[in-house]
Amino acid sequence: MGRDEALGQIDDYFLNGSFEADLARRVAVRTESNLAGCEAALQSYLDDEMTPFLSSMGFDCTIHPNPRSDAGPILVARRQEDDGLPTVMTYGHGDVVAGYDGQWIDGIDPWLITKSGHRWYGRGTADNKGQHTINLAALKTVLDTRGALGFNIIVLIEMGEERGSPGLKEFCAANKHLFDADVFIASDGPRIHPDTPTMFMGSRGVFNFTMKLDVHDGGHHSGNWGGLLTNPGIVMAHAIASMVDPNGKILVEGWRSTEMSGSVRAALARLDVGGGENAPTINPNWGEPDMTPAERVFASNTFEIRAFETGNPQSPANAIPPSAIVFGHLRYVVGTDPDQLMPMLRTHLDKHGFNAIEIEAERDPMYATRLDPDHPWAKWVVASLAETHGDDIAVIPNLGGSLPNDVFADVLGLPTIWVPHSYAGCSQHAPNEHILEGTTRTALRLMTGLWWDLGAGETPAA
Ligand SMILES: [Zn+2]
Repeated sequence: MGRDEALGQIDDYFLNGSFEADLARRVAVRTESNLAGCEAALQSYLDDEMTPFLSSMGFDCTIHPNPRSDAGPILVARRQEDDGLPTVMTYGHGDVVAGYDGQWIDGIDPWLITKSGHRWYGRGTADNKGQHTINLAALKTVLDTRGALGFNIIVLIEMGEERGSPGLKEFCAANKHLFDADVFIASDGPRIHPDTPTMFMGSRGVFNFTMKLDVHDGGHHSGNWGGLLTNPGIVMAHAIASMVDPNGKILVEGWRSTEMSGSVRAALARLDVGGGENAPTINPNWGEPDMTPAERVFASNTFEIRAFETGNPQSPANAIPPSAIVFGHLRYVVGTDPDQLMPMLRTHLDKHGFNAIEIEAERDPMYATRLDPDHPWAKWVVASLAETHGDDIAVIPNLGGSLPNDVFADVLGLPTIWVPHSYAGCSQHAPNEHILEGTTRTALRLMTGLWWDLGAGETPAA
């Protein structure tokens, strides 16, 4: 009775326009964290929107300055019911990318909600205002229905995610006592399909680096010097060819990752990758040869060349170019140590005679995280989602893309579970960002069921 009543309440919340009203107020705050002069809006989102809402639910709210002086504030709110109850940490970001006013279809204003068919347009509807609005509304519905949550909860809202979360890791590392939770459950990013409830538990890491070969002081006429001088572009092309085969298989010793637990393999076997609106055609022969497409994108390391230049492509000269540069890029999974990637590449290049190529890692890689699908909290969340929606739940051990989940998984040491409420075609960083009405309605129910079950007394032991 109680659970169904709560689900009925959240349906009403959507149908009576309250969800739209809550989201519209939040979308209206121009929290464009990458633009100069955004400080007042970032502060206002926490002062005038999040704090009153959370305070009304009995949260103690504190807005902390960011440890990096040029980045937005961080809200930490806690509602403590009983020290003996489980404690969940949740997260959202109130900042958005630039609005790109004037570039939306039909003259849509990015700072208003505009409905068209099953789409609701507005900056932040998908990333991330809509997602944390769903989660907090579901929380309030459980509180109103049950009279108590039945668990303790810590909410962290940051205002710099679209700038790469400056200061978040330092803040959490310095304030671990604020985040003494049993589990982390939050929402960001896309479902695997708009109609398939999805959970993911981490992400691949990102490692960027450059390779440079500087051999001459300037270009040299190929008629006078061709046959006498080394061409750096040709040498660099051979270096690349030594690192990866024509089908994308990595050849650098130590850079591949093909190990998977049985539970990761089983979870990936149920996933269909690719597809969707405007999706490119998958090359079934690209990447790790003995893996399925889902295993390649979620469970293997992949190497890309982001850019490769020699000479001047805008104005090619009949000359031997002075230098060549490659911008390299790895997505990597748990089990790969990013500190070893450059030493391994150095060893590889030297072994193949490319000692003259200089390599350099970019600063601040994104770290890889993953929670095993057999983890008790992962199984518990799947069971709750299935209770609300049926058995068709996509479980992704980690996203193929990257997010700063290592702050929660490694710095705070929490099992991390993400339940995304958007979809791949949502245009989240471009004009025309939107959510889908059907996805949103199911998300409200899924999260209401999840918070309900969390307070029902049958959670994994701490
Ligand atoms: Zn974003």
